[in-house]
Amino acid sequence: MKKIALTKLDELFAAIAASKSLYLPVDTEKGAKYTAWTEGAKLSEATNTVRSAKDFFFPQVEDMASFKVEGKKIEVIDTRKEAEDFVVFGVRACDAKSFEILDSVYLVDPVDSYYASRREHGVVMTLACSRPTETCFCKAFGIDAAEPAGDISCWKTEDSLLLKANTEKGQALLDSLSMLEDAEDTAADAVKAATREIVEKLPLSNLSTDAFGGDKLSALFDSDKWESLSESCLACGTCTFVCPTCQCYDIRDYDTGHGVKRFRCWDSCMYSDFTLCAHGNTRTTQMQRFRQRFMHKLVYYPANNNGVFGCVGCGRCMRSCPISMNIVKVMKTLEG
Ligand code: SF4
Ligand code: SF4
Repeated sequence: MKKIALTKLDELFAAIAASKSLYLPVDTEKGAKYTAWTEGAKLSEATNTVRSAKDFFFPQVEDMASFKVEGKKIEVIDTRKEAEDFVVFGVRACDAKSFEILDSVYLVDPVDSYYASRREHGVVMTLACSRPTETCFCKAFGIDAAEPAGDISCWKTEDSLLLKANTEKGQALLDSLSMLEDAEDTAADAVKAATREIVEKLPLSNLSTDAFGGDKLSALFDSDKWESLSESCLACGTCTFVCPTCQCYDIRDYDTGHGVKRFRCWDSCMYSDFTLCAHGNTRTTQMQRFRQRFMHKLVYYPANNNGVFGCVGCGRCMRSCPISMNIVKVMKTLEG
């Protein structure tokens, strides 16, 4: 375990940023947002960012390739640049878990090389929550807000930042930071206990997942509750865009006038054209689309991933949906 005084955080961030791009959550008018570090940038005290940290590995829009067209000749141009080394500081335990879920999609055969390259070049420095809020329910999915994963785990005490490396990448970064001092392995025990005490008292901490899982498909798919749950859904897709585990995308070609640019952008299963194919649309109602989103997180994903749910309880959908619909309401309604 290493430590540095909180009064020296700027020094720590400057040392990291000297060799790698560093991103951290800072407060903006619209809530906490990951931003490139600049001198004097103040680390947000918010429990979580409005948008999740998935953007670093799976950006909202990215170029995949270009095509130069001359008559009948097409030249394929690989637009990929070698990803830069970067560090993301302040990732919470829920978002750190979401990377494992994204990995299980993008790093299995066939590996998504765009995603894999960013994962390889990124160092994740997590920060244990000290003020989990009433929209947090990571505990329901077996996540410990006091013990976040990542390449390096960090804890804030009254006067210090404690740091522990979990991977080779994380250890290499800590070894390069000469201003860090040694700390007892037990130095974070008190703040961990304090966080767990708060988590125990949160209204959603004991949300039950018993009614969900890979073996509950027919009981849940045919539930008559989907109609009423989905009837006010605006199909805006906000819940999918703020969600750290949503991973659907579209690939489109754009005619630039002198060639074609192929790009990938986030898509949403809440959109009516998400399943539009040449032969027609397989989901013709918002109820079907709405059901798909929650069935994926609560039934299909665990069915294919040893019971692990596709939600990390970050609560972003609770804070962002314009009609106040969210996965907690869905779970509580379905289980009656
Ligand atoms: S944010 Fe709310 S209204 Fe928008 S698609 Fe999601 S559930 Fe529907
Ligand atoms: S479904 Fe909601 S609570 Fe669960 S991970 Fe996505 S945004 Fe967070």
